[in-house]
Amino acid sequence: MAEATIVKPDLDFVKGVIAAGGESLKKCYQCATCSVVCNVTPDQNPFPRKEMIWAQWGLKDKFKGNPDVWLCQQCNDCTAYCPRGAKPAEVLGAIRKQTIQQYSAPAFLAGLVNNKTFMPVLFLIPAIILLITGGFSIPEGDIVFSNFFPIHTIQFVFTPALLFGLAVGVMGVMKFWKDMKQAAGVTSGDLKGSIIATAKDVISHGKFKDCGVSKDRFLSHFLVFYSFVALAIATGFGVLYIDIFHVMSPFSLFGKGWIVKLFGLAGAAGLLLGVSLMVMNRFKNAAKVGIGSYFDWLLITIIAVVMASGILAYLTRLAGIAGLAYPIYFIHLVFVFSLFVYLPYSKLAHLFYRGTAMCFAKYSGRDKTIDN
Ligand code: SF4
Ligand code: SF4
Repeated sequence: MAEATIVKPDLDFVKGVIAAGGESLKKCYQCATCSVVCNVTPDQNPFPRKEMIWAQWGLKDKFKGNPDVWLCQQCNDCTAYCPRGAKPAEVLGAIRKQTIQQYSAPAFLAGLVNNKTFMPVLFLIPAIILLITGGFSIPEGDIVFSNFFPIHTIQFVFTPALLFGLAVGVMGVMKFWKDMKQAAGVTSGDLKGSIIATAKDVISHGKFKDCGVSKDRFLSHFLVFYSFVALAIATGFGVLYIDIFHVMSPFSLFGKGWIVKLFGLAGAAGLLLGVSLMVMNRFKNAAKVGIGSYFDWLLITIIAVVMASGILAYLTRLAGIAGLAYPIYFIHLVFVFSLFVYLPYSKLAHLFYRGTAMCFAKYSGRDKTIDN
């Protein structure tokens, strides 16, 4: 006689998934339509049907070191075709949020970022830090942002913020990689080949082209991704000019720092278009796939405010309206700081975890796009 399997549900996990946007979870009756329509899942042991039952039963441990929830590209095809309205794409999104919280230390910060009750606190903390470090008295004369918040103070505050975000993210993915190896019983593979193949997927955004319902996600995500790359290049050149060439104001359009301005403007324009498309797509597909969770909207909001405040600060500076330019610039700094510090706890953490899961899928042979 077969031994009985004792299921030990983690009810807090189920409640967490439901609170994070997976409230439709209980509607699933395991028909597997979702796994059939998913263009991204491997044929063997496909997702997201199995994840739906694990989440329903509160089998939290099944998600420890599970790459599949990250291989999902959130295209929403499964949600559109689910006959029960169980919204598997939203449920996987809620599970990803739980995974981020599980792997990101300290836990209280992860809880703070993902609880909408604390949203005002989220931006108040950076505002206080910047007020303490910057002083912020509005200077007389021409509008020069570096007179308001000195460039070296920006480096002093923002570099540790970014390094903190990156360090927490890297530590998280190291634990995640170890757990994936353990869960899959994989001890070796072609790491270099997997990294190269993953980089090609990320650069081309090839997986997005498999989406059916949310085809438009390719363009919006592509624009946002490459806008961040352009802004990172602009920042890199900015640091280079200031620290190596000692040009204290590398931001004039035709001066020595023209390249900073070029990449900065291209990044801002791409971000404006990309985020606008993201918001429009969400509303356009709302009837079929829902509008998204707080987790989704928090990131969209932070990126939108960073972009809008950056552009407005620039325009009000050109127009010579100091009473607007300086406060808007301050808001811009608060949201950039938030983006850096909350990076490993927000939806932006998918940069770490999705890339790592895609790499592991190739490394372990689950994704057959490279020979192992
Ligand atoms: S989520 Fe929907 S499509 Fe998938 S198994 Fe459950 S009921 Fe079927
Ligand atoms: S959202 Fe798209 S990629 Fe994710 S499980 Fe559903 S169909 Fe597959």
